Amino acid sequence: MALAQLPDATGHFGKFGGMFVPETLMAPLQELTVAYDEARRDPAFQAQLDDLLHNYVGRPTPLYLAERWTEKLGGAKIYLKREDLLHTGAHKINNALGQILLAKRLGKTRIIAETGAGQHGVATATVCARFGMECVVYMGAVDMERQALNVARMRLMGAEVRAVTAGQATLKEAVNEAMRDWVATVDHTHYILGSALGSHPFPMMVRDFHRVIGVEARQQVLEKEGRLPDLLVACVGGGSNAMGLFHPFLNDESVRMVGVEAGGLGILPEKHAARFQGGKLGVLQGTKTWLLANDDGQIELTHSVSAGLDYAAVGPEHAYLQDIGRVEYTYATDDDALAAFKELAHTEGILPALESAHAMAYISKIAGSLPKSDIIIANLSGRGDKDVEQAAKYLL
Ligand SMILES: *Cc1c(COP(=O)(O)O)cnc(C)c1O
Repeated sequence: MALAQLPDATGHFGKFGGMFVPETLMAPLQELTVAYDEARRDPAFQAQLDDLLHNYVGRPTPLYLAERWTEKLGGAKIYLKREDLLHTGAHKINNALGQILLAKRLGKTRIIAETGAGQHGVATATVCARFGMECVVYMGAVDMERQALNVARMRLMGAEVRAVTAGQATLKEAVNEAMRDWVATVDHTHYILGSALGSHPFPMMVRDFHRVIGVEARQQVLEKEGRLPDLLVACVGGGSNAMGLFHPFLNDESVRMVGVEAGGLGILPEKHAARFQGGKLGVLQGTKTWLLANDDGQIELTHSVSAGLDYAAVGPEHAYLQDIGRVEYTYATDDDALAAFKELAHTEGILPALESAHAMAYISKIAGSLPKSDIIIANLSGRGDKDVEQAAKYLL
Protein backbone atom coordinates (compact mmCIF):
# COMPACT_ATOMS: atom_id res chain seq x y z
CA MET A 1 0.00 0.00 0.00
CA ALA A 2 1.36 3.44 -0.87
CA LEU A 3 2.64 5.24 2.21
CA ALA A 4 0.27 8.16 1.95
CA GLN A 5 -2.76 5.80 1.77
CA LEU A 6 -2.45 4.54 5.34
CA PRO A 7 -4.04 3.71 7.73
CA ASP A 8 -5.92 0.63 6.48
CA ALA A 9 -9.66 0.15 7.10
CA THR A 10 -9.03 -1.05 10.67
CA GLY A 11 -6.96 2.02 11.51
CA HIS A 12 -3.56 0.33 11.36
CA PHE A 13 -0.28 1.77 10.18
CA GLY A 14 1.52 -1.56 9.81
CA LYS A 15 1.45 -3.09 13.29
CA PHE A 16 0.73 0.27 14.95
CA GLY A 17 -2.53 2.13 15.64
CA GLY A 18 -5.90 0.38 15.85
CA MET A 19 -8.86 0.86 18.21
CA PHE A 20 -8.19 0.00 21.86
CA VAL A 21 -11.28 1.47 23.51
CA PRO A 22 -14.15 0.38 25.78
CA GLU A 23 -16.91 -1.51 23.95
CA THR A 24 -19.37 1.41 24.31
CA LEU A 25 -17.13 3.60 22.16
CA MET A 26 -16.70 1.16 19.26
CA ALA A 27 -19.96 2.02 17.49
CA PRO A 28 -19.61 5.82 17.94
CA LEU A 29 -16.03 5.68 16.65
CA GLN A 30 -17.16 3.72 13.62
CA GLU A 31 -19.91 6.28 13.05
CA LEU A 32 -17.30 9.04 13.31
CA THR A 33 -15.07 7.26 10.79
CA VAL A 34 -17.89 7.05 8.26
CA ALA A 35 -19.02 10.65 8.86
CA TYR A 36 -15.46 11.87 8.46
CA ASP A 37 -15.01 9.96 5.23
CA GLU A 38 -18.18 11.53 3.84
CA ALA A 39 -17.25 15.02 5.01
CA ARG A 40 -13.78 14.73 3.50
CA ARG A 41 -15.28 14.11 0.08
CA ASP A 42 -18.05 16.72 0.42
CA PRO A 43 -17.12 19.93 -1.45
CA ALA A 44 -19.45 22.00 0.78
CA PHE A 45 -17.63 20.82 3.92
CA GLN A 46 -14.24 21.56 2.39
CA ALA A 47 -15.39 24.97 1.19
CA GLN A 48 -16.57 25.97 4.67
CA LEU A 49 -13.35 24.67 6.23
CA ASP A 50 -11.19 26.51 3.68
CA ASP A 51 -13.13 29.73 4.15
CA LEU A 52 -12.71 29.65 7.93
CA LEU A 53 -9.05 28.63 7.70
CA HIS A 54 -8.49 31.69 5.55
CA ASN A 55 -10.66 34.35 7.16
CA TYR A 56 -10.76 33.25 10.80
CA VAL A 57 -7.54 31.33 11.36
CA GLY A 58 -5.23 33.27 9.01
CA ARG A 59 -4.11 30.74 6.37
CA PRO A 60 -2.05 30.41 4.31
CA THR A 61 0.86 30.99 6.68
CA PRO A 62 4.08 32.38 5.14
CA LEU A 63 7.07 30.24 4.23
CA TYR A 64 9.72 32.58 5.57
CA LEU A 65 13.40 32.52 4.56
CA ALA A 66 15.39 32.93 7.77
CA GLU A 67 18.21 34.85 6.12
CA ARG A 68 20.22 35.97 9.12
CA TRP A 69 19.97 32.57 10.78
CA THR A 70 21.02 30.84 7.56
CA GLU A 71 24.02 33.16 7.28
CA LYS A 72 25.00 32.62 10.88
CA LEU A 73 24.92 28.83 10.61
CA GLY A 74 26.77 29.01 7.28
CA GLY A 75 25.16 26.08 5.45
CA ALA A 76 21.78 25.03 4.08
CA LYS A 77 19.09 27.60 3.37
CA ILE A 78 16.49 27.60 6.17
CA TYR A 79 12.81 28.27 5.59
CA LEU A 80 10.36 28.49 8.49
CA LYS A 81 6.72 27.51 8.03
CA ARG A 82 5.04 30.17 10.16
CA GLU A 83 2.28 28.30 12.04
CA ASP A 84 3.15 30.63 14.93
CA LEU A 85 1.24 33.38 13.14
CA LEU A 86 -2.10 31.56 13.26
CA HIS A 87 -5.04 32.67 15.43
CA THR A 88 -4.41 31.46 19.02
CA GLY A 89 -0.70 31.10 18.30
CA ALA A 90 -0.10 27.51 17.18
CA HIS A 91 -1.01 24.89 14.60
CA LYS A 92 -3.58 23.27 16.92
CA ILE A 93 -6.47 25.37 15.64
CA ASN A 94 -6.31 23.67 12.20
CA ASN A 95 -7.48 20.46 13.85
CA ALA A 96 -9.88 22.01 16.37
CA LEU A 97 -11.69 23.81 13.56
CA GLY A 98 -11.92 20.72 11.34
CA GLN A 99 -13.28 18.62 14.17
CA ILE A 100 -15.91 21.10 15.34
CA LEU A 101 -17.29 21.29 11.80
CA LEU A 102 -17.48 17.52 11.85
CA ALA A 103 -19.19 17.55 15.27
CA LYS A 104 -21.84 19.93 13.94
CA ARG A 105 -22.35 17.68 10.94
CA LEU A 106 -22.90 14.77 13.36
CA GLY A 107 -25.50 16.84 15.25
CA LYS A 108 -23.48 16.98 18.48
CA THR A 109 -24.16 19.87 20.86
CA ARG A 110 -21.37 19.52 23.38
CA ILE A 111 -17.58 19.42 23.02
CA ILE A 112 -14.98 17.99 25.39
CA ALA A 113 -11.20 18.11 25.11
CA GLU A 114 -8.05 17.36 27.09
CA THR A 115 -5.18 19.76 27.36
CA GLY A 116 -1.65 19.74 28.76
CA ALA A 117 -0.04 23.15 28.38
CA GLY A 118 -3.41 24.57 27.45
CA GLN A 119 -2.78 25.31 23.76
CA HIS A 120 -5.21 22.66 22.53
CA GLY A 121 -7.70 23.69 25.21
CA VAL A 122 -7.49 27.29 24.02
CA ALA A 123 -7.93 26.26 20.38
CA THR A 124 -10.97 24.16 21.33
CA ALA A 125 -12.52 26.87 23.52
CA THR A 126 -12.00 29.28 20.63
CA VAL A 127 -13.88 27.23 18.03
CA CYS A 128 -16.60 26.39 20.57
CA ALA A 129 -17.19 30.11 21.13
CA ARG A 130 -17.19 30.65 17.37
CA PHE A 131 -19.88 27.97 16.90
CA GLY A 132 -21.83 28.50 20.12
CA MET A 133 -21.14 25.02 21.48
CA GLU A 134 -20.91 23.98 25.13
CA CYS A 135 -17.26 23.29 25.96
CA VAL A 136 -15.62 21.33 28.79
CA VAL A 137 -11.83 21.06 28.92
CA TYR A 138 -10.11 18.55 31.22
CA MET A 139 -6.77 19.70 32.53
CA GLY A 140 -4.42 18.36 35.20
CA ALA A 141 -4.48 20.44 38.38
CA VAL A 142 -0.68 20.76 38.21
CA ASP A 143 -0.86 22.02 34.62
CA MET A 144 -3.60 24.49 35.57
CA GLU A 145 -1.26 26.08 38.04
CA ARG A 146 1.67 26.16 35.60
CA GLN A 147 -0.45 27.52 32.74
CA ALA A 148 -2.77 29.91 34.55
CA LEU A 149 -2.85 32.31 31.60
CA ASN A 150 -4.26 29.66 29.25
CA VAL A 151 -6.83 28.64 31.87
CA ALA A 152 -7.99 32.27 31.97
CA ARG A 153 -8.10 32.44 28.16
CA MET A 154 -10.35 29.36 28.01
CA ARG A 155 -12.67 30.68 30.72
CA LEU A 156 -12.88 34.10 29.06
CA MET A 157 -14.20 32.36 25.94
CA GLY A 158 -16.88 30.61 27.95
CA ALA A 159 -15.33 27.16 28.40
CA GLU A 160 -15.53 25.21 31.63
CA VAL A 161 -12.08 24.01 32.72
CA ARG A 162 -12.28 20.93 34.94
CA ALA A 163 -9.30 20.21 37.19
CA VAL A 164 -8.06 16.62 37.22
CA THR A 165 -6.31 15.68 40.45
CA ALA A 166 -5.67 11.94 39.89
CA GLY A 167 -2.13 10.54 39.57
CA GLN A 168 0.46 13.05 38.37
CA ALA A 169 -2.40 15.51 37.68
CA THR A 170 -1.09 16.27 34.17
CA LEU A 171 -1.95 15.41 30.56
CA LYS A 172 -2.26 11.61 30.80
CA GLU A 173 -4.81 11.87 33.61
CA ALA A 174 -6.69 14.61 31.74
CA VAL A 175 -7.05 12.24 28.74
CA ASN A 176 -8.39 9.50 31.05
CA GLU A 177 -10.99 11.88 32.48
CA ALA A 178 -12.05 13.08 29.02
CA MET A 179 -12.44 9.43 27.89
CA ARG A 180 -14.56 8.68 30.96
CA ASP A 181 -16.81 11.66 30.19
CA TRP A 182 -17.11 10.59 26.56
CA VAL A 183 -18.17 7.02 27.38
CA ALA A 184 -21.13 8.47 29.32
CA THR A 185 -22.08 11.29 26.93
CA VAL A 186 -21.15 10.15 23.44
CA ASP A 187 -24.73 10.42 22.12
CA HIS A 188 -24.56 14.24 22.18
CA THR A 189 -20.86 14.95 22.82
CA HIS A 190 -17.85 15.02 20.50
CA TYR A 191 -14.35 14.62 21.88
CA ILE A 192 -11.88 16.92 20.08
CA LEU A 193 -8.64 15.03 20.62
CA GLY A 194 -5.62 17.31 20.34
CA SER A 195 -2.90 15.31 18.58
CA ALA A 196 -2.36 12.49 16.07
CA LEU A 197 -2.97 9.99 18.86
CA GLY A 198 -5.66 7.80 20.37
CA SER A 199 -7.99 5.33 18.70
CA HIS A 200 -8.74 5.25 14.99
CA PRO A 201 -9.94 7.47 13.31
CA PHE A 202 -8.25 10.24 15.37
CA PRO A 203 -4.63 9.77 14.19
CA MET A 204 -5.78 9.87 10.56
CA MET A 205 -8.29 12.66 11.03
CA VAL A 206 -6.02 14.94 13.06
CA ARG A 207 -3.22 14.40 10.53
CA ASP A 208 -5.53 15.23 7.64
CA PHE A 209 -6.69 18.48 9.25
CA HIS A 210 -3.02 19.49 9.58
CA ARG A 211 -1.97 18.37 6.07
CA VAL A 212 -2.67 21.91 4.92
CA ILE A 213 0.72 22.81 6.47
CA GLY A 214 2.63 20.54 4.11
CA VAL A 215 0.38 21.20 1.12
CA GLU A 216 1.03 24.95 1.44
CA ALA A 217 4.75 24.50 2.14
CA ARG A 218 5.14 22.34 -0.94
CA GLN A 219 3.49 24.89 -3.21
CA GLN A 220 5.40 27.77 -1.60
CA VAL A 221 8.83 26.18 -1.92
CA LEU A 222 8.14 25.27 -5.54
CA GLU A 223 7.23 28.92 -6.20
CA LYS A 224 10.29 30.30 -4.42
CA GLU A 225 12.93 27.73 -5.34
CA GLY A 226 11.51 25.79 -8.26
CA ARG A 227 12.20 22.50 -6.50
CA LEU A 228 11.37 20.36 -3.49
CA PRO A 229 13.29 20.80 -0.22
CA ASP A 230 16.06 18.40 0.83
CA LEU A 231 15.05 18.21 4.47
CA LEU A 232 11.92 18.71 6.58
CA VAL A 233 12.20 19.13 10.35
CA ALA A 234 9.47 19.27 13.01
CA CYS A 235 9.14 18.64 16.73
CA VAL A 236 7.16 15.56 17.81
CA GLY A 237 4.91 15.46 20.86
CA GLY A 238 1.93 13.37 19.83
CA GLY A 239 3.09 14.19 16.36
CA SER A 240 0.36 16.29 14.73
CA ASN A 241 2.37 19.27 13.47
CA ALA A 242 5.07 16.93 12.15
CA MET A 243 2.55 14.69 10.35
CA GLY A 244 0.90 17.76 8.86
CA LEU A 245 4.18 18.93 7.35
CA PHE A 246 5.55 15.49 6.39
CA HIS A 247 2.53 13.75 4.92
CA PRO A 248 2.26 15.54 1.57
CA PHE A 249 5.98 14.74 0.95
CA LEU A 250 6.01 11.07 2.01
CA ASN A 251 6.18 9.74 -1.52
CA ASP A 252 8.99 12.12 -2.57
CA GLU A 253 12.04 9.96 -2.02
CA SER A 254 14.49 12.86 -2.32
CA VAL A 255 12.99 14.61 0.71
CA ARG A 256 14.56 13.58 4.05
CA MET A 257 12.48 14.05 7.19
CA VAL A 258 13.54 14.36 10.79
CA GLY A 259 11.26 14.39 13.84
CA VAL A 260 12.66 15.86 17.05
CA GLU A 261 11.45 14.56 20.41
CA ALA A 262 11.98 16.02 23.88
CA GLY A 263 15.28 14.86 25.36
CA GLY A 264 14.53 16.67 28.64
CA LEU A 265 17.43 16.42 31.07
CA GLY A 266 19.01 13.58 29.08
CA ILE A 267 18.06 10.00 28.17
CA LEU A 268 17.60 8.62 31.70
CA PRO A 269 14.45 7.03 33.17
CA GLU A 270 11.75 9.67 33.93
CA LYS A 271 13.93 12.56 32.71
CA HIS A 272 12.78 12.83 29.07
CA ALA A 273 9.91 12.18 26.65
CA ALA A 274 11.84 10.69 23.69
CA ARG A 275 9.82 7.55 22.97
CA PHE A 276 12.18 6.35 20.24
CA GLN A 277 15.10 6.40 22.69
CA GLY A 278 14.53 3.18 24.60
CA GLY A 279 10.73 3.16 24.46
CA LYS A 280 8.66 -0.01 24.24
CA LEU A 281 5.83 -1.19 22.01
CA GLY A 282 2.60 -1.04 23.97
CA VAL A 283 -0.96 0.26 24.18
CA LEU A 284 -1.86 3.59 25.74
CA GLN A 285 -5.13 5.52 25.56
CA GLY A 286 -6.59 3.84 22.49
CA THR A 287 -3.59 3.07 20.30
CA LYS A 288 -0.67 0.66 19.91
CA THR A 289 2.59 2.55 19.57
CA TRP A 290 6.01 3.29 21.10
CA LEU A 291 5.78 4.47 24.66
CA LEU A 292 7.88 4.97 27.75
CA ALA A 293 7.20 2.21 30.28
CA ASN A 294 9.20 0.34 32.89
CA ASP A 295 9.86 -3.41 32.82
CA ASP A 296 6.50 -4.14 34.50
CA GLY A 297 4.68 -2.27 31.74
CA GLN A 298 3.88 0.70 34.02
CA ILE A 299 3.87 4.00 32.13
CA GLU A 300 6.91 6.01 33.17
CA LEU A 301 6.94 9.61 34.28
CA THR A 302 8.21 11.96 31.59
CA HIS A 303 9.91 15.33 31.65
CA SER A 304 10.37 18.19 29.22
CA VAL A 305 10.77 21.93 29.56
CA SER A 306 7.96 22.15 27.00
CA ALA A 307 4.63 20.80 28.25
CA GLY A 308 3.43 20.18 24.67
CA LEU A 309 6.06 17.46 24.12
CA ASP A 310 5.75 15.94 27.59
CA TYR A 311 3.74 12.75 26.94
CA ALA A 312 4.61 9.05 27.25
CA ALA A 313 3.34 7.87 23.82
CA VAL A 314 4.00 8.93 20.24
CA GLY A 315 1.41 8.93 17.44
CA PRO A 316 1.15 5.52 15.72
CA GLU A 317 1.93 6.82 12.23
CA HIS A 318 5.29 8.09 13.48
CA ALA A 319 5.95 4.66 15.00
CA TYR A 320 5.32 3.17 11.57
CA LEU A 321 7.41 5.71 9.66
CA GLN A 322 10.29 5.10 12.06
CA ASP A 323 9.89 1.34 11.72
CA ILE A 324 10.15 1.39 7.92
CA GLY A 325 12.95 3.99 8.01
CA ARG A 326 11.09 6.70 6.09
CA VAL A 327 11.48 9.32 8.84
CA GLU A 328 14.43 9.68 11.21
CA TYR A 329 13.88 10.61 14.84
CA THR A 330 16.27 12.37 17.14
CA TYR A 331 15.92 14.47 20.28
CA ALA A 332 16.90 17.84 21.69
CA THR A 333 17.42 18.39 25.41
CA ASP A 334 15.85 21.18 27.46
CA ASP A 335 19.16 23.08 27.27
CA ASP A 336 19.40 22.61 23.47
CA ALA A 337 15.84 23.93 23.07
CA LEU A 338 16.45 26.95 25.30
CA ALA A 339 19.65 27.79 23.40
CA ALA A 340 17.76 27.58 20.09
CA PHE A 341 14.96 29.73 21.54
CA LYS A 342 17.54 32.42 22.29
CA GLU A 343 19.31 32.04 18.94
CA LEU A 344 16.11 32.46 16.92
CA ALA A 345 15.03 35.42 19.06
CA HIS A 346 18.38 37.16 18.58
CA THR A 347 18.96 36.45 14.88
CA GLU A 348 15.41 36.64 13.50
CA GLY A 349 13.32 38.49 16.08
CA ILE A 350 11.06 35.47 16.49
CA LEU A 351 10.21 33.89 19.85
CA PRO A 352 9.39 30.25 19.07
CA ALA A 353 7.23 28.05 21.31
CA LEU A 354 9.53 25.88 23.43
CA GLU A 355 8.10 22.86 21.58
CA SER A 356 9.10 24.30 18.20
CA ALA A 357 12.48 25.27 19.66
CA HIS A 358 13.32 21.53 19.76
CA ALA A 359 13.12 21.42 15.95
CA MET A 360 15.15 24.63 15.78
CA ALA A 361 17.81 23.08 18.03
CA TYR A 362 18.33 20.25 15.54
CA ILE A 363 18.70 22.73 12.69
CA SER A 364 21.13 24.78 14.69
CA LYS A 365 23.23 21.64 15.11
CA ILE A 366 23.25 20.40 11.51
CA ALA A 367 22.56 23.27 9.06
CA GLY A 368 26.22 24.38 9.05
CA SER A 369 27.37 20.93 7.94
CA LEU A 370 25.00 20.85 4.93
CA PRO A 371 25.86 22.39 1.54
CA LYS A 372 24.63 25.94 0.88
CA SER A 373 22.64 24.61 -2.05
CA ASP A 374 20.47 22.49 0.31
CA ILE A 375 17.01 23.65 1.36
CA ILE A 376 15.51 22.97 4.79
CA ILE A 377 11.90 23.59 5.79
CA ALA A 378 11.28 23.64 9.53
CA ASN A 379 7.85 23.83 11.08
CA LEU A 380 7.57 26.72 13.51
CA SER A 381 4.55 25.09 15.17
CA GLY A 382 3.76 27.90 17.60
CA ARG A 383 4.79 31.21 19.09
CA GLY A 384 6.65 31.58 22.34
CA ASP A 385 4.48 34.15 24.10
CA LYS A 386 3.16 31.44 26.41
CA ASP A 387 6.75 30.50 27.33
CA VAL A 388 8.18 33.95 28.02
CA GLU A 389 8.11 33.61 31.79
CA GLN A 390 9.80 30.23 31.70
CA ALA A 391 12.39 31.25 29.10
CA ALA A 392 13.17 34.45 30.99
CA LYS A 393 13.80 32.42 34.14
CA TYR A 394 16.50 30.40 32.35
CA LEU A 395 17.88 32.93 29.90
CA LEU A 396 17.81 36.38 31.51
C1 LIG B 1 0.96 20.97 21.30
C2 LIG B 1 2.12 21.55 20.58
C3 LIG B 1 3.12 20.73 20.00
C4 LIG B 1 3.14 19.24 20.14
O1 LIG B 1 2.08 18.56 19.57
P1 LIG B 1 2.18 17.76 18.20
O2 LIG B 1 0.91 17.04 18.14
O3 LIG B 1 3.38 16.85 18.30
O4 LIG B 1 2.34 18.74 17.13
C5 LIG B 1 4.12 21.34 19.28
N1 LIG B 1 4.20 22.68 19.15
C6 LIG B 1 3.27 23.49 19.71
C7 LIG B 1 3.42 24.96 19.52
C8 LIG B 1 2.21 22.97 20.44
O5 LIG B 1 1.31 23.79 21.00
